[in-house]
Amino acid sequence: MSDIAHHLQQVEAQIANAARQAQRSPEEILLLAVSKTKPLSAIREAYAAGQRRFGESYAQEAALKVQAAKAEGLDIEWHFIGPLQSNKTRLVAEHFDWVDSVDRLKIAERLNEQRPESAHPLQVCIQVNISGESQKSGTTETAVFDLARAISQLPRLQLRGLMAIAENTSDERVIQRSFSQLHDLFVQMHETFPSMDTLSMGMTQDLGIAIANGSTQVRIGTAIFGARDYRQA
Ligand SMILES: *Cc1c(COP(=O)(O)O)cnc(C)c1O
Repeated sequence: MSDIAHHLQQVEAQIANAARQAQRSPEEILLLAVSKTKPLSAIREAYAAGQRRFGESYAQEAALKVQAAKAEGLDIEWHFIGPLQSNKTRLVAEHFDWVDSVDRLKIAERLNEQRPESAHPLQVCIQVNISGESQKSGTTETAVFDLARAISQLPRLQLRGLMAIAENTSDERVIQRSFSQLHDLFVQMHETFPSMDTLSMGMTQDLGIAIANGSTQVRIGTAIFGARDYRQA
């Protein structure tokens, strides 16, 4: 078995354990394999081990990988999860199935305009800045309802949920509190926006806390593919 296949099994076991502890079914939690900076060969290995959902953060790098994987016939659900600039929306609208990191209306409108007619609607999550750190992307909790309402009017987008990145801290209580707040917001928004079924939170370091707080999608890079080397990104 390859390292990547082995790591995938370990991550799946971690998800199952965390789900059991939270008295949830492991099937409620989807695994997004975050392959940013990693070569197509790593994606192939994970694919051979059964992984079908991949996340990427850098539009140009990602578009090349998506095209190469499609040319090989790999049947992958691609998620764009990085900060998105206006001049990169077309690449993302043309190549991805999901954008998990929409954080302002202008980006949503461009994705809506640029989504090819031949493709199914782009599935989107709104990224919420739960840490309050000003350098982090994401909309504020006060603006999120307005953004959701606007996105739900855009015909080429389908609103699917919320995404967040925890504050970079070793204090688990801080992470737990912000994940729990996002879960409350998600439950509240679901009443107005029934198409919202995805709460994307949890990475390699905080997967367990995220699952205990209702995450339905964890985004795992390092634990599957190893540490990233940004010099080649
Ligand atoms: C890179 C990245 C991840 C994966 O992080 P790991 O700590 O390697 O698991 C998850 N989510 C987002 C938005 C990322 O940019």
